[in-house]
Amino acid sequence: MEIRKIKGTKDILPDETEIFLAAEKVLRETMIKYGYREIRIPTFEQTELFKKGTGVSTDIVTQQMYSFTDRGERNISLRPEGTPSVVRAYLENNLHKKRLFQKFFYYGRMFRQESPQSGRLREFNQFGIESIGSLSPQIDAETIILGLEVLRNIGLKRIEIHLNSIGCDKCRPSYKKSLKEYLKPKLNILCNDCKRRFNANILRVLDCKRETCRKELQNSPVSIDYLCDECKNHFSKVKELLQKSNVSFTLNPYLVRGLDYYTKTVYEFISPVLSAQDAVGGGGRYDRMIELFGGPPIPAIGFACGMERILLAVEKEGGEKRKKEKLDCYIATMDDKTDEEGFLLLNNLREKGLSCEKDFLNRSLKAQMKDANRLGADFVVIIGPEEMEKNEITIRMMSDSSQKRIEFSVDAIVKEIR
Ligand code: AMP
Repeated sequence: MEIRKIKGTKDILPDETEIFLAAEKVLRETMIKYGYREIRIPTFEQTELFKKGTGVSTDIVTQQMYSFTDRGERNISLRPEGTPSVVRAYLENNLHKKRLFQKFFYYGRMFRQESPQSGRLREFNQFGIESIGSLSPQIDAETIILGLEVLRNIGLKRIEIHLNSIGCDKCRPSYKKSLKEYLKPKLNILCNDCKRRFNANILRVLDCKRETCRKELQNSPVSIDYLCDECKNHFSKVKELLQKSNVSFTLNPYLVRGLDYYTKTVYEFISPVLSAQDAVGGGGRYDRMIELFGGPPIPAIGFACGMERILLAVEKEGGEKRKKEKLDCYIATMDDKTDEEGFLLLNNLREKGLSCEKDFLNRSLKAQMKDANRLGADFVVIIGPEEMEKNEITIRMMSDSSQKRIEFSVDAIVKEIR
């Protein structure tokens, strides 16, 4: 095969699709339980949206977006994340005029040109929530509790929550100033990325994974020591609500998240069984973004989780890799005549709502029984010439291999199976 898939993309083959489908089902059920409604946003948007929303100093915008000029000379980007699109859709459709408080969730593919490795793709599936309109710390706690529940429902057993507050426009400048003063004498030791971040967005130096940079950060000032009273009270309440809800978390002063728009609470869901890419999800408050997009000052908070990375973690924890296929009935036949009868019966049983399959390769009865087993059939209907003569079929229950003859009628077969 000459043409191969593009680096960082993934073929999700039917066995794995079924795992995704099961996860997507519990995802939607859990979201609805918490009052979140699904929003479907475009796969591509004006590049400007992400520059403004995600931020011009982020790695995503500077290095990772799939951007192109279309035939109409428009600057377009494949979405690297969902939040800017949800905020745009919220304002563009005047949803802010309809209700003061609204909850959305989304699920779909995102695109980032990162260097592919385990748990890091260039096209991946993300689900996320955006809770728009409330400043209450209860909403911060609710999003974390929901994130935890959704990850558990998908099958993750071990999840750690890392929590931090990065303050607001009032208190963050003094923190950034102190961090800058602290890092300035160490600048030549920091990696090239951090040298760039030092000027573009100093907070990003904090989540550099390189050992040399980490070492230099050991005694750096931390944001929670610089919070204004409002941010301090907000963060205390979030922590208190989580504790009272029996949610354990770790305070991580180096957690800033890669995006420019966060304010106050930021958090990540970490899987201890994953190595370098161990965050299965993360989020935080973004109280200024709606205003930045030209809307009224409406606060918001949200998170995003990567489905491939979650399923990788579930697998590493030893969870069920593959859902067993299920089939109500397999029709086995013996010769041309019975085979055509089998085809007609297949359609009739499907019409009655049963999942049904037959052989299309003229295989031996033995091979057909093997196929039925592979497909997870509960029953096999065997149509042989002898049975047909008596207007009967043999029905075999696969769980105990018991079999009996019954009348060859759709109703009789359906009754037996049901
Ligand atoms: P972010 O939008 O960067 O905060 O990422 C949120 C979550 O999306 C991460 O915790 C991952 O689970 C997932 N994610 C982000 N980037 C990738 C990627 N390149 N490949 C796979 N999953 C990703």
